[in-house]
Amino acid sequence: MLQLTGIEKVYQTRTIETVALNHVNLTINQGEFVSIMGPSGCGKSTLLSIMGLLDEPTSGTLEIDGRPVQSYSDKELARLRNHKIGFVFQSYHLINDLSVLDNVELPLLYRSGVSGKERQQRAYAALEKVGLGARTNHFPSQLSGGQRQRVAIARALAGQPELILADEPTGNLDSVMGEEIMDLLLTLNREEGTTIVMVTHDEQQALKTQRLIRFFDGSQVS
Ligand code: ADP
Ligand code: ADP
Repeated sequence: MLQLTGIEKVYQTRTIETVALNHVNLTINQGEFVSIMGPSGCGKSTLLSIMGLLDEPTSGTLEIDGRPVQSYSDKELARLRNHKIGFVFQSYHLINDLSVLDNVELPLLYRSGVSGKERQQRAYAALEKVGLGARTNHFPSQLSGGQRQRVAIARALAGQPELILADEPTGNLDSVMGEEIMDLLLTLNREEGTTIVMVTHDEQQALKTQRLIRFFDGSQVS
């Protein structure tokens, strides 16, 4: 699904140059659940941003479904970003003034061809899937951290992504809620075949995934 070849990312500010990724070669296969571990600052978030087309590498090639990203038109890239890939972040990124249902519907507003009715149906279905079917009219502030993260996962699911990129999805949660979120991701991967790449600091969680990749200083070490 994703193939990274010689991916390098250099952040250049006026005075310093930081090599965030140092010639990374990595393949993510369809249906895999891969975890990425490594110390703070080793390039994990940068890697996810590049995989998710949020940032461009300084050099190297990213192929998606066997085609280099450069060969896709802007329109095709927008489609990949919006349809193929779902993001889940450590800090949920929910909008506090919107209900749970509205938060989950939001990304679908920008999709052509999804009617208001379908949008709502998809949002309800996604919230059912994460066990929050009874909380659709709540606001984020009325939910626990674990529930907020489930809303964020439902928001990603409503877009029916083939790939979920999760950046420390349990980083703000206690171990019990972290485990619930982890179980949810494992179920999505197993039952729906969603490909997942997850950054985590939790070795126990990482060992539950199919492949654990360790990073250090911008490079894969195992
Ligand atoms: P991790 O997610 O593993 O903590 P990051 O990918 O966030 O690592 O960062 C990798 C390196 O790149 C770090 O040294 C970080 O300070 C640097 N970095 C990340 N984003 C930027 C940026 N926008 N500008 C400059 N340096 C950055
Ligand atoms: P945890 O201890 O698991 O983080 P909380 O104790 O915060 O969770 O929440 C437990 C339950 O109380 C959850 O079902 C949540 O929906 C509800 N809850 C938490 N905070 C509020 C709130 N401010 N208003 C309404 N319900 C809340």
